[in-house]
Amino acid sequence: MAAPKVAVIGAGVIGLSTALCIVETCPSCSLTVLSDQFSPNTTSDIAAGILIPHTYPGTPIHVQKQWFKETFTDLFAISNSAEASEAGVHLISGWQVFKNTPKEELPFWSDVVLGFRLMSEAELQKFPQHRFGQAFTTLKCDCPPYLLWLEKRLKAAGVQMHTRKVADLWELQSEYNIVVNCTGIGAHQLVGDEKLFPVRGQVLKVHAPWVKNFIRDGDGSTYIYPGIHRVTLGGTREMENWSLSPDPGTTKDIFDRCCSLEPSLQVAQDITVKVGLRPSRQCVRVQREVLSQGGVKLLVVHNYGHGAGGFSMHRGTAKEAARLVRDCIAALQASSSRAKL
Ligand code: FAD
Repeated sequence: MAAPKVAVIGAGVIGLSTALCIVETCPSCSLTVLSDQFSPNTTSDIAAGILIPHTYPGTPIHVQKQWFKETFTDLFAISNSAEASEAGVHLISGWQVFKNTPKEELPFWSDVVLGFRLMSEAELQKFPQHRFGQAFTTLKCDCPPYLLWLEKRLKAAGVQMHTRKVADLWELQSEYNIVVNCTGIGAHQLVGDEKLFPVRGQVLKVHAPWVKNFIRDGDGSTYIYPGIHRVTLGGTREMENWSLSPDPGTTKDIFDRCCSLEPSLQVAQDITVKVGLRPSRQCVRVQREVLSQGGVKLLVVHNYGHGAGGFSMHRGTAKEAARLVRDCIAALQASSSRAKL
């Protein structure tokens, strides 16, 4: 059979990393990325890009740990390479602080990040409203540079990139053997997934180069994540809110909350406001599906629904999706050999 033709829909962190893993896992296929938006216009461009997992209640913890570990290992290698600066991937140390001792003192990812430990009394003095804290080193992607770096690697591998909105997966059936759905919140409309819902997030990007450590309130409401050029201040988690317009009252609230954690931010400069919709689901959908219409079949692999943790999990779920694409190719080759007999 001729080289199988694969289309990945979506050019956020999930689509681009899935495409890259398909190139690595199935080098014989002909791959195209189709997306209505590319960087800097995706949800992935808005994210802070820090690797701190959020738990998906419907996905087994050992699977989430495996996805996180694979992501951390691959990005740690990038951070140690000469590519680190262009890819925007760097190590970052900091604190996650709690007003009360959490039920789970050791999160499932504590032995994946580096140097995880409980904070000392002396460290906690920096946070007078908090009584418990964890210190560790993790990784952070500066999102637009990381997405551009992924795009560059895909183009170098001969992957085609086209701007196109896909209204129905079936419109791709005559051109491609396998379709990989990485459309984030777009899957709500594209495949009518009612289990997928937006969790709106508003963040501020500020100039405050003296802030070097991340600070995250353990309840996830307030965070300060320094990047290479800008510091991300957050945030909000508004379920089922589809609005992409920044809210000025929320901007002030985020700024005040972040200043109460890190008072030096009062003099931060050059504040810009961004809004994104986290593609949220009880469990990430990494799944193979065979669609059938009038006796014609369409092989689909889904990889969407990463909610608040797309960067934290992307390499792990991309590798799993690429293995599902490999299985689809094997099934196509087997049926093509049978047809020749
Ligand atoms: P997207 O980035 O939305 O990409 C989807 C792609 O599909 C886009 O290119 C879109 O144009 C395309 N598309 C959609 N529908 C169609 C269609 N019908 N036809 C063609 N193309 C289509 N995660 C972390 O791990 N760490 C963080 O620090 C972090 N911070 C965040 C902060 C905020 C404020 C927000 C909003 C999110 C944050 N996240 C974070 C979550 C992370 O951003 C998401 O999990 C991740 O970006 C999802 O990536 P995606 O590729 O699935 O979606």
